[in-house]
Amino acid sequence: MTAPVLKDSYGRAIRDLRVSVTDRCNFRCFYCLPHGEPPAAPKELMLTYEEIEYLVSIFVSLGIEKVRLTGGEPMLRRDIETLVAKLAQIPGITDLALTTNAFNLHERAAGLKAAGLDRVTISLDSLKPEVFKQMTGVDVLDRVLAGIHAAQRVGLTPIKINAVIVRGHNEDEVADMAAFAREHDITMRFIEYMPLDSGHGWSREQVVSGAEIRQGVNERFLLVAKGGERGSDTSTRYRFADGAPGEIGIIAPVTEPFCGACSRIRLTADGQIRTCLFSKVEHSLRDVLRSGATRSEIIAYIEGVMLKKEPRHYINETFFEQPARTMSLIGG
Ligand code: SAM
Ligand code: SF4
Ligand code: SF4
Repeated sequence: MTAPVLKDSYGRAIRDLRVSVTDRCNFRCFYCLPHGEPPAAPKELMLTYEEIEYLVSIFVSLGIEKVRLTGGEPMLRRDIETLVAKLAQIPGITDLALTTNAFNLHERAAGLKAAGLDRVTISLDSLKPEVFKQMTGVDVLDRVLAGIHAAQRVGLTPIKINAVIVRGHNEDEVADMAAFAREHDITMRFIEYMPLDSGHGWSREQVVSGAEIRQGVNERFLLVAKGGERGSDTSTRYRFADGAPGEIGIIAPVTEPFCGACSRIRLTADGQIRTCLFSKVEHSLRDVLRSGATRSEIIAYIEGVMLKKEPRHYINETFFEQPARTMSLIGG
């Protein structure tokens, strides 16, 4: 029997589901939520853990292999470990991951691992306390570093660290962060700033291009592109030429778009399918589910929605307009 595969109308196989479990966040990253959270959606509009588990199991039966919990800050949703444990039981998920700002990861890493989480991706924009505070709105660099070490200790690995590089803030730190990757044998991923901030403060001038980031690291540590197919990976991956541990990933959606190989879809905390980060429309899987639809009706709905997946983003076109929902509401 051939493995199931969800396809969009451009023939791209959809293998990767990102599930936002909350819109809430305890950080105020200026590139994401500079003015704080929008009013909370009524609780009854949010998917319950049972609903998420059921929908994820359907997605997996259709060929989804990788599931990532995100937000907002996913660790703010009560007992996220319970959801992790439910999802870990679904056969067919090859990679169950969670993206977090790591505020309370040092206390909860062991519990997440025990619940069945495979690995974490952690956001860390600066190794300088004052820059960290200025970029995230909170003075907690030490806690985040403790969270990274705890995740390593309990084996939530391979750990990836995400840093959004923004001109005038942290572009001078890329080589220091590469040194951090070498020292701790982790993957450091540098991300171009995308127009998904709630403050609509994004400007092209602030985007530090992937090429510039590569050069910044190369000036201190020579990088060698990792062999093999990139596939649907968002990052181009590099190892250190001198054989040091650690890895560098560069995610350059603005200057080097990778939409042609996109395998991702997103489910928001209130149950909307987003077929692209920059979608202008959403598809209410929650309403379909709560209308009493059968499993096969839900499957037919999902398959139909996949056919509406956008071919690419239009950030570099003059007619580009930022989507109404921002990164913290979409699920990065
Ligand atoms: N709160 C968690 C965290 O920060 O890791 C998970 C959600 S956050 C929206 C997911 C990722 O999106 C983070 O790594 C963050 O750096 C990234 N992100 C947020 N806004 C962005 C933007 N405007 N451009 C590029 N990446 C962004
Ligand atoms: Fe919160 Fe993550 Fe957005 Fe920062 S990037 S404000 S931690 S959701
Ligand atoms: Fe996929 Fe849309 Fe991101 Fe392009 S912009 S990689 S189509 S989610």
